[in-house]
Amino acid sequence: VTLKQALELAAEKLSVLPDIEAPAFEAEVLLRYCLALDRAELHLNKLKELTPEQVARFFVMISRRLQGEPTNYITGHREFFGLDFKVDSRVLIPRPETELLVEQTLRIIGDRHFQTVSDIGTGSGIIAISLAVNLFRTGSFLNLPGSSLPNVLHNNSTMGVKIFATDISDPALAVARLNAQKHAVDQYITFCRGDLLLALPEPVDLVVANLPYVSTSAMAAMPSALFEPHWALDGGTTGLDQILRLISQLRGRIKEGGAVLLEIGMGQSVAIMDFFRRLYPLCCPQVLRDLAGIDRVIAVVSFHA
Ligand code: GLN
Repeated sequence: VTLKQALELAAEKLSVLPDIEAPAFEAEVLLRYCLALDRAELHLNKLKELTPEQVARFFVMISRRLQGEPTNYITGHREFFGLDFKVDSRVLIPRPETELLVEQTLRIIGDRHFQTVSDIGTGSGIIAISLAVNLFRTGSFLNLPGSSLPNVLHNNSTMGVKIFATDISDPALAVARLNAQKHAVDQYITFCRGDLLLALPEPVDLVVANLPYVSTSAMAAMPSALFEPHWALDGGTTGLDQILRLISQLRGRIKEGGAVLLEIGMGQSVAIMDFFRRLYPLCCPQVLRDLAGIDRVIAVVSFHA
């Protein structure tokens, strides 16, 4: 069996699952992982023969995928914001729409002189770590294709920024710590276990969060929900439970004039903005849309209690 033949056979098998949108791509990701090849190497070696042992290992992975296990749990990796993260069943798999949240947070930190930043419900740590890498690490700074971020971040005004990353789950924090070490930003991030903002040791200038916001009924229709930690996705009957709880915890835990950025689900923006205005009439929540045109982030640029 050549690599090309194995890929074709695997893609054909994967194409029977309705939730796999790109079977050929996933087959390729799994074969590359199995053989430890990068994209170019895979293409240069497509006509080479696999050993029987390699064939066996590859098709074990394909059958795991056919049972519904997400490709990123099989490989243990996921790319986010141009960085490679370790993921496993202790944490949610990062979604591409969350890059909007990180981009907007970097923009706000660049504009303001914030000293303390918090990522609430950090999971695998992607938000806190993407912020830290772009704020602190020289050389890796803002070279994403298509990025329109202002080139003002990596300067002295951000060098003293302190980042807190919180989660209710100790196993998730263990993954986040490993990821912070992997990207050499663990010295900039303080990890805290606890319930949303109650985990913070001091009031902060900025709160960013991608909390669980899937409604319990939508969870039932989500294939990956059988494998991902349900507490990272399940937002209760309306999906809003955790987001509204965080909003009600803000007073006294965020500084006056601070900023709040929350990722939200489709159709949730009106209810969340109403709730925000009701609790804090001096705040002006704004909605940001993702690339698919869906309301995805609620931002309060200047918080007043
Ligand atoms: N965007 C994710 C999904 O719909 C949900 C992530 C979350 O609950 N924060 O798959």
